[in-house]
Amino acid sequence: MIESIKGTRDILPPESELWRSAEAVARGIFAKSGYGEIRTPIIEDSALFIRGVGKDTDIIQKQMYSFTDQGQRNICLRPEATASVVRAYIEHNLHKTESIVKLFYCGTMYRSEKPQAGRQREFTQIGVEVLGSYSPYSDCEIIVLLDDILKALHVGDYQFKINSLGCEKDKEKFKGYLKQSIKKDVKKMCEDCQRRYASNILRILDCKNEQCRTILESLDIKHDYLCEECAADFNKITDTLKNENINFKKDPFLVRGLDYYTKVVFEVTAKGLGSQDAIAAGGRYNNLVKELGGPQTGACGFAIGVERLMAVAACDKIYQEKPLDLFLVCMNDKASQEAFYILHKLRLRGISCDMDYSTKSLKAQMRYADKIKAGFVIVIGENELTSRQGMLKNMKTGDQKQITLDKIAESLC
Ligand SMILES: [Zn+2]
Ligand SMILES: [Zn+2]
Repeated sequence: MIESIKGTRDILPPESELWRSAEAVARGIFAKSGYGEIRTPIIEDSALFIRGVGKDTDIIQKQMYSFTDQGQRNICLRPEATASVVRAYIEHNLHKTESIVKLFYCGTMYRSEKPQAGRQREFTQIGVEVLGSYSPYSDCEIIVLLDDILKALHVGDYQFKINSLGCEKDKEKFKGYLKQSIKKDVKKMCEDCQRRYASNILRILDCKNEQCRTILESLDIKHDYLCEECAADFNKITDTLKNENINFKKDPFLVRGLDYYTKVVFEVTAKGLGSQDAIAAGGRYNNLVKELGGPQTGACGFAIGVERLMAVAACDKIYQEKPLDLFLVCMNDKASQEAFYILHKLRLRGISCDMDYSTKSLKAQMRYADKIKAGFVIVIGENELTSRQGMLKNMKTGDQKQITLDKIAESLC
């Protein structure tokens, strides 16, 4: 037997219906805030992510699904969507047509990680990107949007963590401070951190190693590396979030795993997920468009991990089960032929209906109609075919009424 690839998973009905409902909720919220959908390819030039995400990130070092295709091109399955959206933004000259471009996406991403609870090799993200805005109110907008989605999906216990890395200059200052303060302890840190110390010191801050954590927690990190403008923007954002009653706390250790972030970054964690408790994350990335060949452009966005979201969302509260309107019970092959004809006509008129395809017994077919909670049932046999009349049974009340086979639609309305 051929099985699905490790780290991937099938989503079957009725679970897929819950997913569809959750996506519909997000889409509705995006539409009300002026976001349009972008669909980018799953395969991209590997160079896009090496340049965009950063060489010394785990994604590029360990997790990219890349391969050389028949044309000797270096291609990969997208590990995230922001770099793709930015590529599309530049490629289609969107910066020349609109001053601010607000986009959302929903799709699968790929990372070759060790599969564990809450971590898959193929996973789904819903996210937004705002391109062309330096305004702190764009940061506020996406955070409030994300909060609206979590509330609408009845996610219980969650919290935003928020931090400002500052602009490029501030980031350098902060890196310098970290280098100084960790210097004497760096030999005691894990191998990864020793490497990061030289190549990408900010990444040390989110190391999960216990020894590293102890060293980090002794550091006194204040936001005094922020320049006046970055500090003012950070204050505007936290004030606005307070006004909007967003449950957040400042976390000076929050840096996010990707190189492209500048200024404000945030993450949402939810209770009940174990160690992989981040359900969404995002931030501002004012240098990425330029890095990928476009003009200097202010931008921010977030992505939600849909698998984890589904684990904590009470989707059943928003998903309304819609059973079939009608089930046709067929007593013989001729009845099946007639039922098939009736079914198609009814479906075209917007009535949901189905029939039995396996010539089960009358009792078995009735039991099935009951199980799928069909609203009405009609039995078609020899007599019904001759008289063109049948009994329409209301499965809720048990009431029956005689109807004409050619007028089932009218009888159901
Ligand atoms: Zn600054
Ligand atoms: Zn470490």
